[in-house]
Amino acid sequence: MNPESFYFKSRLQKLRSQFELLKVDVFLVTFMPHLRYLSGFSGSAGIGLITQNNSYLITDGRYSEQVRQETKGWKIFINQTDLLDEMQKQKLLRAGLRVGFDGNTLVINQLQNFKKHFPKVKFLPKVDCIEKIAAVKDETEIAKIKRAVEITDRVFTEILSFLKPNIREVDIAAEITYRHRKLGADGDAFPPIVASGERSALPHGCASDKILKNGELVTLDFGCVYQGYHSDMTRTFALGRPKADVKIIYQTVLDAQMKAIEAARSGIKAKDLDAVARDYIKQKGYEKYFRHSLGHGIGLQIHEQPRLSVLSKATLEVGNVVTIEPGIYVPNLGGVRIEDDVVITNGFCEILNKSPKELLIL
Ligand code: ZN
Ligand code: ZN
Repeated sequence: MNPESFYFKSRLQKLRSQFELLKVDVFLVTFMPHLRYLSGFSGSAGIGLITQNNSYLITDGRYSEQVRQETKGWKIFINQTDLLDEMQKQKLLRAGLRVGFDGNTLVINQLQNFKKHFPKVKFLPKVDCIEKIAAVKDETEIAKIKRAVEITDRVFTEILSFLKPNIREVDIAAEITYRHRKLGADGDAFPPIVASGERSALPHGCASDKILKNGELVTLDFGCVYQGYHSDMTRTFALGRPKADVKIIYQTVLDAQMKAIEAARSGIKAKDLDAVARDYIKQKGYEKYFRHSLGHGIGLQIHEQPRLSVLSKATLEVGNVVTIEPGIYVPNLGGVRIEDDVVITNGFCEILNKSPKELLIL
């Protein structure tokens, strides 16, 4: 058996082993990243149904070939007009069944539609079942994330020569997007963030047509998707000699990030890891300027479990892949964020990004 199909089977097994605890007979999968995770199907429309013994996938005619190539062991149904009509026609859900679904992603209209088609079935919202399984990556997934990170690192090296005064933020964003595709990525993980000068104090400033100027800080936050898997990296650099307080902020963020990376390992609580960076930044007097969480899981989605935040209840496990991205954003001065992707292993973590982290002065 090839390793990929082994892992798809084991993902389904993990979900099925929860049925008793969840008090469900069937799990309904309507969110495409979840369906891709469980089946390998990468189309944009489809419904999965997982029973204790079978897995069914219903999609439309555009995908009749693709779905057969990408999945193994799934019973496939194709319907040109309505996937729910097909489920009804095939009698996939009989009266009295308890059907679990992901309460975070199924929208109310869809749910009503399911209830209309299957009035005698009990639909039960469940949260984070698939997400929790997906938080622990297997070797095939880690290999894809590594490739995505390599592409992003390479793009960073390639665009360094573009980073100079008088160019627009959107021009840099366009170069990033173009190079991701040229280097084999499916596309950007999200629209690249290019935030210069005062805009760098916006943690998620999308690229605008503002022109980069000498003396400014510039934050680049970007990533790509490779075979469905995401990378996510942030670097901040200075155009011309930075002010003394900018250098202090930069060093504080870098030290906080390195301390968090050092502490990242299996067994640490996500909120304690967040505290490693947050307490250090607080000690340096910048606590009120660090206004987001330390990081998040990456995988088939750009933001997934485990979340590294004050509120998180997660404990890090071997196989989690997370970002570590502290930042300090001071209005009227600028912002600094440094972000790497790491794989949690036993006793330490592996940093995937190879792009330099010392303050680049261009
Ligand atoms: Zn990012
Ligand atoms: Zn991120």
